[in-house]
Amino acid sequence: MPLALHSRTIKAAALVGSGLASFARTRRSSEATVLAFHGLCEDAGDPEILDWSLHLPVSVFRSICALLAADYKVVSLADLIEARMKRARLPDNAVIITFDDGYASNYELAYPILKEFDLHATIFVATGFLDGEDMLWFQRVDLALGRTRKQLIDWKINNKKLRLYLGTRELRQQSLVRLMPELKELPDTDLLREVDRLEEELEVSSPTPADLPTPMRPMTWEMACDMSLSGHVDIGGHTHTHPILARCDSMAMRAEICACRDRIRAEIGDLPATFAYPNGSADDFTRETMLLVREAGFKAACTTISGRVNNDVSLFQLPRYGSPESVWEAEATVSGAFETLKDWRRSCLKAMSMI
Ligand SMILES: [Zn+2]
Repeated sequence: MPLALHSRTIKAAALVGSGLASFARTRRSSEATVLAFHGLCEDAGDPEILDWSLHLPVSVFRSICALLAADYKVVSLADLIEARMKRARLPDNAVIITFDDGYASNYELAYPILKEFDLHATIFVATGFLDGEDMLWFQRVDLALGRTRKQLIDWKINNKKLRLYLGTRELRQQSLVRLMPELKELPDTDLLREVDRLEEELEVSSPTPADLPTPMRPMTWEMACDMSLSGHVDIGGHTHTHPILARCDSMAMRAEICACRDRIRAEIGDLPATFAYPNGSADDFTRETMLLVREAGFKAACTTISGRVNNDVSLFQLPRYGSPESVWEAEATVSGAFETLKDWRRSCLKAMSMI
């Protein structure tokens, strides 16, 4: 476990152990929480992948589901939308489970656990990824840096010169961490060209669905239909090729949102009701993105901005917490303990500034 995650888990365990989590769970019971997962993996990590943050060990996911089934009320995004329309309240301590991108592991590893605990989830799929036509660009970058035989490259991007060291797995991970924020800054039209250029420079071929490491594989449409028919899972939209929408022009933005909606309708049979903005931070979508998503018929859209869902939150800017790395972190998150601590810290600082 990386040091930063380890310290997050220790802090979470302290909040749970001290009783703050159960205090917050009672005090903040009217606020809902949305959790954002990506893929799951068997406990042993695949050494081919550099960034493991998107693939949570299935044993951790199972403990989180056991916690949610015992002490919280898992509801669907459709329940949240309906409650808003009717001005009704969600059950106390409501939690919504979501997954982004559409990994096969959602079907193979998460779905049996959702059924076992009778829980609902929404999976936001990048439809070109499921079609097997558009590999996720960030997976291509991860694999290119992981698979190259080169020991280092000098890379010019955004008027900066980066020396990317690739001699060891650790150096490759550090190079990935340096490169990703730069790539996310690029206009979408330049991004895929840049990834092509990177693969060329690193002398690796672009991956096909067949040679993706297991945790990175997309689910098939049959898997998506099977889950959708079960009633345990709703399929939502996450664009067609997973661009950061704020870096697209209006035409490309509309095309990405509508192509995704139309592919889901063609395969699943229903119009998807919900959407998640790729990357999802405040800089990754605009007012125009929200209008286009609404115009395309979606009823709600999720961000990756941390926060709790109360009546003041817009349905097209729903906050979500990133995947907890441990059951302690899940409890400190969904109970509201982390937020309570933040609020206390803020009021302490305010009080001190008045002295
Ligand atoms: Zn995504």
